[in-house]
Amino acid sequence: MAESLSGIGVSPGVAAGPVAQMAPPPVVPTDAAPSGDPEAENQAAMAAMKAVATSLEERAARAPGEAASVLAAQAMMAEDPTLASKVTDGVQAGKAAITAVVDAFEEFRAMLAAAGPYMAERVADLDDLRNRTVATLLGVPMPGVPDPGHPFVLVALDLAPADTATLDADRVKAIITEEGGPTSHTAILAKSLGIPAVVTCHGATAIAEGETVLVDGTEGSVAVAPDEATVAEALDAEQRKLAALEAVSGPGRTSDGHPVQLLVNIAGDKDLEPAAAADSEGVGLFRTEFLFLDRPNAPTLEEQQAVYQRVFDAFPGRKVVVRTLDAGADKPLEFVTVPDEPNPALGVRGLRTSRRHPELLEEQLTAVAQAASASGAQVWVMAPMVSTTAEAAAFAEQVRGHGLSSGGVMVEVPAAAIRARHVAAACDFMSIGTNDLSQYTYAADRMAGELADLLDAWQPALLDLVRMTAEAGKALGKPVGVCGEAASDPLLALVFVGLGITSLSMAPVSIPAVRAAVAAHTLAECRGLATLALDAEDGRDARNAVRAATRG
Ligand code: PEP
Ligand code: MG
Repeated sequence: MAESLSGIGVSPGVAAGPVAQMAPPPVVPTDAAPSGDPEAENQAAMAAMKAVATSLEERAARAPGEAASVLAAQAMMAEDPTLASKVTDGVQAGKAAITAVVDAFEEFRAMLAAAGPYMAERVADLDDLRNRTVATLLGVPMPGVPDPGHPFVLVALDLAPADTATLDADRVKAIITEEGGPTSHTAILAKSLGIPAVVTCHGATAIAEGETVLVDGTEGSVAVAPDEATVAEALDAEQRKLAALEAVSGPGRTSDGHPVQLLVNIAGDKDLEPAAAADSEGVGLFRTEFLFLDRPNAPTLEEQQAVYQRVFDAFPGRKVVVRTLDAGADKPLEFVTVPDEPNPALGVRGLRTSRRHPELLEEQLTAVAQAASASGAQVWVMAPMVSTTAEAAAFAEQVRGHGLSSGGVMVEVPAAAIRARHVAAACDFMSIGTNDLSQYTYAADRMAGELADLLDAWQPALLDLVRMTAEAGKALGKPVGVCGEAASDPLLALVFVGLGITSLSMAPVSIPAVRAAVAAHTLAECRGLATLALDAEDGRDARNAVRAATRG
């Protein structure tokens, strides 16, 4: 019988194929003897780092859109002068080139790891660079994506951007990683390439090379050595599912006609084309951070206005919900974030940054208002990380003061959900950010893969907060959406509809399955499913109960 492994499904779809394990990183010799010629050692080290940077640049030049910028950023890291001078210091202190390289990377790695969660995420990129440099110095094959000469299922400990960015979606049928998490590069890029993927899959790297696996990126399961009939049946079922999804189109509606707006999330230029082409009623979450990240100063008013204009123009007549700058914690900004905060997730982040930098919010709202007045989109604006009614009221007033029609808040802090009736009265709409709301409700860092059970949006305490928020919105006639990742789970979407949520915003690829799920149930059925989920003991029970009821 086939062995079954499970993990977290991060990119939907079903695929089968033979496993190709990612080449292991090169083994660093512990006894590398220096030649006694520091100049020669330095030249060898610099040449290896240059070769790695050049090969990444070449790959960047061939790669499409986002992949190109990811690779180019990694190439820049390989050419970082601080890193190079640490290597030179090492060889001048008498180390062999390879030892100096490994030590310099180690020092750099510790600096990144200590610089907060966002920078810590770049550690995997740095480790990949070190391995490439060491492989070059040793003259062994470059670690990275294998090329067995036929389509395959890629299995790896975790993937660095240099690996995922140039994956050929025609060759790589699915991806399984032993580590990683729902917000890893693997997850994000696999989803954008449409490759089914399962992460945090313990035991994956022990699967034999060439063994057939059946991967379900929706369920998060991997069957090892399944029989042919099982594979054929699973692929058939997937085809039927896709055909059924394609048969439903247009605005989101339950089977008895209750409207549920289906919207898309966008976080940058690269998302604009697929988002605009998606069969949606607009944008439910426009994350504006991308304009501010990785730069020493805020973008100018004109620069902001031009970008907002481009986005609004892509959605004439449709709704676009702009989320004002959400800096801090997992999205630190050089010119905004308070340095050395002991606990940045609980610090000056989201709307709170405007306490110190009111001018940034003012300028952003001015740019949004100018772009909105010159476009045909219905522009709504909301603030991240709102905790109090007073914050909601002040923000909504500020938004309206700029001539914008609708000012709302994200509900990401339990306090806002608990006081939702007051918050709803103080603003025009609410949008629940389940990623952060889970983190703050369960006191579990949203980046922590090993706390995935607590971060599960099916957890009843989170659903209770969603219920309270939705009820408050309904009582006051204010829309309440969900724009966190949870909105893309078709089963959970039914529960949200039953709880009274009026819109669901997600990545474009997730819309067809959510639309079809909603269209297959009446509002009363969704309410029944919501009751089942709320009555469950934990997230797993809630999911199982709802799944069983929808199958029954
Ligand atoms: C959320 O927290 O659910 C959300 C949508 O915002 P972000 O993921 O950008 O923090
Ligand atoms: Mg958030």
